[in-house]
Amino acid sequence: MGKFGSKSIAYRPGRLFPFYPPYQSPAKYWKGPFRFFDLPPELRDQILRLILLEWDSAQKDTVHLFLTCRRIYEEAASVFYYEVLLDNMHLKGTADPFLTGPLTRVSPRQYVRNLVIRFSLKEQINLFGETYGTALQEMAEKGRLQDLRLEVGSLFPNPDFWGFEDELSAYESIRVTNKAGKESFILAPLFITKAPFQNFLKFLDESKIPKITLFVDAEDHETFWCLFHRPHPSGKRCEGEWKGNSKMLKVQHSNLVKCFKGARAEKPTWIKDCNYTPIAPILRNATGNEET
Ligand SMILES: [Zn+2]
Ligand SMILES: [Zn+2]
Repeated sequence: MGKFGSKSIAYRPGRLFPFYPPYQSPAKYWKGPFRFFDLPPELRDQILRLILLEWDSAQKDTVHLFLTCRRIYEEAASVFYYEVLLDNMHLKGTADPFLTGPLTRVSPRQYVRNLVIRFSLKEQINLFGETYGTALQEMAEKGRLQDLRLEVGSLFPNPDFWGFEDELSAYESIRVTNKAGKESFILAPLFITKAPFQNFLKFLDESKIPKITLFVDAEDHETFWCLFHRPHPSGKRCEGEWKGNSKMLKVQHSNLVKCFKGARAEKPTWIKDCNYTPIAPILRNATGNEET
């Protein structure tokens, strides 16, 4: 007797598969109700995916599906809201309704796994210390949120970003702590020391969301983000001219938090008049290991 597996399956004679009877429509031998929940979860998921995401289903059919029963609602919502993009750029400082209101059993947001929020730093950053912060935290703790991608859609801190001159756009000497825990001074817009930005950093720092990524517009990032965005694939240090194709640059937000959390405006005695010095070279000294 040959050893088991000694013959390649490709050379075995005869049929590989047992005989199947000719196909019969299930209606011919099954007269009972169709029990959707007898199907394994993976098949239910595939069916819901087809109905909700891939077929051109009529809106009323989708609504009917959601209204069938609580269990179907939960499964359908987990498929339908798996990935959500909230483009808040047009909202002018108001909160997105998707992230407001009390969290109930039928709130769609608790079913979101991957969330993208594209927002304007100036008009919406305050929300992360308020409604958004609470909602996102809840979505991670009571819901399914795993992956949050934040896209700063505005050019911070350019004149375009400010729109008009106000005290927050003024560059001030700001005391910051570098990675090594050493304090130093940089010139940065006063805005970063104020509650909205500080609360945003606090949110990034303390959030329970498993994964957060922060992106900024690549086109005009050099006045602020160069020290924090990912390095160019060539390994060359970005001097403000990003040579890549990507429209958005990924910011290492843990460094942002380390550098600016608790930053406060303060005039150091050794700085005379440098209000117009660009942020980047000075920031480099502030965050580098050696201070020049
Ligand atoms: Zn850069
Ligand atoms: Zn100064």
